[in-house]
Amino acid sequence: MDIKFTGKTALVTGAGQGIGRAIAKRLFQHGAEVFALSKSPENLQSLLREAPGIHTVTVDLEDWEATEKAVKGLGHIDLLVNNAGVAILEPFLDIKSGSFDKLFNVNLKAVINVSQIVAKQMIDSKIGGSIVHVSSQASQAPLKDHAVYCSTKAALDMLCKVMALELGQHKIRVNCVNPTVVLTEMGKLGWSDPSKADPMLAGIPLGRFAEVEEVVDAVVYLLSDRASMIHGTTLPVDGGFLAC
Ligand code: NAP
Repeated sequence: MDIKFTGKTALVTGAGQGIGRAIAKRLFQHGAEVFALSKSPENLQSLLREAPGIHTVTVDLEDWEATEKAVKGLGHIDLLVNNAGVAILEPFLDIKSGSFDKLFNVNLKAVINVSQIVAKQMIDSKIGGSIVHVSSQASQAPLKDHAVYCSTKAALDMLCKVMALELGQHKIRVNCVNPTVVLTEMGKLGWSDPSKADPMLAGIPLGRFAEVEEVVDAVVYLLSDRASMIHGTTLPVDGGFLAC
């Protein structure tokens, strides 16, 4: 599919490593001016070495004011990918208050903060834009030891729908991509152990986990004009896990 983002400006959160890094690089390859936002400067520096020309933004998304200042300083954004996320695995009976706060701060509250700033600029420009949240199959299927993580992603899916309801009139499309396991640093945390991976794989009709680039393909498609009538959806990239 021939997709070009020439003349468009994109912001990708959590672009230091994993899925977000690959999204930032792909959008850059497709001609967008890309702002790659993440927490660790060393990851962003290595991204810059791989893709000189990408702009980097180092900020902790848990810090509402610092994030607000950093994102407002970027100017107009046409394409926003809310990808940053964290996972802390705890059995339900051991969930800590601090884990709850961190997971909801990064996986949901920061999405609201960043999206508000970007959407207000999109509305002012009267051009509109496209927003994709990276959610998870875990938004719709329970996973052991993932009670809070699953809850953040379920909330993110609903945030997507409400944003779609309110922002559609401003020509701002909002969608989610919901991957199954991808063996990034986060993925390895929960799924390196065959005793956990094998039952999960058994539930995926295609019999394998997703590759990073397969998630990137879905994000790029939803951002693009090829998805011009797709709005408020949650798109599984899960080899059929949620369908069965
Ligand atoms: P990852 O490899 O751990 O990368 C996460 C990125 O988010 C990193 O660049 C990290 O920054 C950034 N980040 C985390 N907390 C941050 C904060 N407070 N402020 C700024 N940046 C922060 O994870 P991934 O697997 O690529 O996951 C990307 C998204 O996909 C997440 O939303 C995740 O929930 C979702 N997802 C992942 C899987 C999977 O199996 N991997 C499956 C479904 C959905 P640093 O560079 O500083 O580490």
